[in-house]
Amino acid sequence: MLDADFFRRWMTMTAASVEREAERLTALDSPIGDADHGSNLLRGFRAVTVALDKESPDTPGAVLILAGRQLISTVGGASGPLYGTLLRRTGKALGEAAEVDEAKFAEAFRTGVDAVMTLGGAAPGDKTMIDALVPALDALGAGFTAARAAAEEGALATTPLQARKGRASYLGERSIGHQDPGATSSALLVAALAEAHGE
Ligand code: ADP
Ligand code: MG
Ligand code: MG
Repeated sequence: MLDADFFRRWMTMTAASVEREAERLTALDSPIGDADHGSNLLRGFRAVTVALDKESPDTPGAVLILAGRQLISTVGGASGPLYGTLLRRTGKALGEAAEVDEAKFAEAFRTGVDAVMTLGGAAPGDKTMIDALVPALDALGAGFTAARAAAEEGALATTPLQARKGRASYLGERSIGHQDPGATSSALLVAALAEAHGE
């Protein structure tokens, strides 16, 4: 079973991974964006860590709702509202249970990813975070390690795609040949899930 501590670990391990990878995320956002993806997520996940320390939410749902709210209010870029929606909607779908099993989490995460697609209008293949999140979701039934591998593969597979959403889409064909920064950070988020589970 996954309790509030597990979800807190997920968020703090994502924050740690964003600290380590911020420069790389910003570098990926340089040729096909505005070179701020790493700094956007640093600001956001630092705020998440502070809020979780201060408010100590005690259910899985409350942890993710609080984290999502921080991302929405502190990240200026497109990724803030999108990741914020992912976590907030996943959290809402978890309800008020003190513990959830992995099947319940997978179902809630689907609600979250669907909400991101509705908000941003991106579908798989548009060269966005969705290209890592949807494969992760589809692999989640096989466990967190499988989801991590699927997200990483999905992020790598954005390189040959032409962007159809977000800033990178303004470049048209020139967006081809670069890995999407948001798909890369989504792979970090999913990797932290496996890490929080001890995998
Ligand atoms: P901004 O583009 O506002 O500077 P970021 O650099 O923080 O924001 O995030 C860029 C990432 O956000 C992209 O690499 C992409 O994965 C994701 N993204 C942008 N627009 C969308 C969208 N409409 N739907 C899903 N993801 C998107
Ligand atoms: Mg950017
Ligand atoms: Mg920006």
